[in-house]
Amino acid sequence: MERDVKALAIVIRTMDVRERDRLLTLFSPSLGLVNVLSYGARKSIKTIKAPLYTEGTFSLEKGRSGWTLKEIDVLSTHDALHEDLDRQQAAMLFSDFIITSKSAEPELYALYSEALDALESDSYEKVTVEFIVHFLSAEGLSGDYISCPVCGRDYLEGEVIGFSSSEGVAVCRDCDTMNGALLLPPNARAYLKRSLELGFKDSLALVVSEEQEHRIFRYLLRTLPYAFPGRLRSLEYGIWRI
Ligand SMILES: [Zn+2]
Repeated sequence: MERDVKALAIVIRTMDVRERDRLLTLFSPSLGLVNVLSYGARKSIKTIKAPLYTEGTFSLEKGRSGWTLKEIDVLSTHDALHEDLDRQQAAMLFSDFIITSKSAEPELYALYSEALDALESDSYEKVTVEFIVHFLSAEGLSGDYISCPVCGRDYLEGEVIGFSSSEGVAVCRDCDTMNGALLLPPNARAYLKRSLELGFKDSLALVVSEEQEHRIFRYLLRTLPYAFPGRLRSLEYGIWRI
């Protein structure tokens, strides 16, 4: 195996270790999730700043105790994500999804990277809605909002749909197992269906009222305990009250 590697990646998690060192978890389209040690202010080693959400080309060296960081060619530091609590919460949730899913496929890298970029300027609720919808779809954890994933029937125009807690997906009212506790009205369903057709980046251009956006945001967060198989600590201990 090669001792040195250069790879595109984003710092998805950081942890302080020992006195001055940091353990970074990088998410890379070519390496997946990889833990890398970044040495702090030691005499012989140059300190490299790699704050959370830094994206760039990382030069790594493989040693006996794992990977260490040698250098970064920075593309973006995503500074704006640290300036606002809601953006921080959203970025933590996106990272949680990637780390908890453990799949870390290359297709998810584009989604994650584009979502962090969008989060710097767009509404955090809109970016979160589109990230969740596209992430769950990529992982095969959601329906297409066109037909019921349980009975296969096409939804009618104007149909309000329900939710199956056992399947973890939105379903027709006949297949609903929650007595209507998680309903999706037709205009919101049309919005989610269109989002999936457009792909993440283009879906951000969809026009929706702030009120509607907020309702869909809350709806999706409430579906997550059923839809997503992993534990999302960023939500459990986070600032959003669902
Ligand atoms: Zn059904």
